Amino acid sequence: MHIGGLLKFSLIDYPGKVAAVVFTQGCNYRCPFCHNPELVLPELFHEPIPEAEVFSFLEKRRGQLQGVTVTGGEPTLHPDLIPFLQRIKSLGYLVKLDTNGSRPDVVEEIVSLGCVDYLAMDIKTSPENYCKATGVAADIEAVQRSIRIIRGSGIAHQFRTTTLKSLVAEKDLKAIQALIGPDDEYRLQAAQLKTKVLDYASLADVADYLPEEIGALKAFYENLPDRKKEAI
Ligand code: SF4
Repeated sequence: MHIGGLLKFSLIDYPGKVAAVVFTQGCNYRCPFCHNPELVLPELFHEPIPEAEVFSFLEKRRGQLQGVTVTGGEPTLHPDLIPFLQRIKSLGYLVKLDTNGSRPDVVEEIVSLGCVDYLAMDIKTSPENYCKATGVAADIEAVQRSIRIIRGSGIAHQFRTTTLKSLVAEKDLKAIQALIGPDDEYRLQAAQLKTKVLDYASLADVADYLPEEIGALKAFYENLPDRKKEAI
């Protein structure tokens, strides 16, 4: 694993759990609003943290931390992700994986092997706007397959979308709603354009949502009349 960061204590990265967070290096997307460019752009990578250091820390914190969130970058790009997750689980930790859903085969294997206790997947925007939101020729079929796998996994999960006016409007929320079910946990999170982002130049003239506008967007989503959708 190429590990770009280790957050030793977090109350917000694993719902309801005190957790450590492992950040993997590398991503196949280039979301302009990404606030972790040092985990995405190879020229910004720091020297990776040795796995031995991560496991030495996790050994010491057994019984104190409840879970470990593995996030990115995009963790599913790493060929040794599954044994890495299994080793964390073998220490007695709950394991949460964050993914952009671009590698459904990996997500499926992780689900079938029972390597994780929680899955969180970004749905960047509507299928129509996906390439714009990810900055690459994203494979929307792969994303949709990951959604189906996660929904059918029986594992606790959450889908989430980062809001940005040019990428996520009400019509996009309707399209996202058609991809997930009424019982799926779904979260809208504000973009953090005030901090460093991957492609600030392309966002410089883009307005972010004001907090009250995000509130209105959430209300719009919650009040969509037909939250029961046919399977995609
Ligand atoms: S926000 Fe986009 S570019 Fe950044 S890590 Fe997530 S998927 Fe990759």
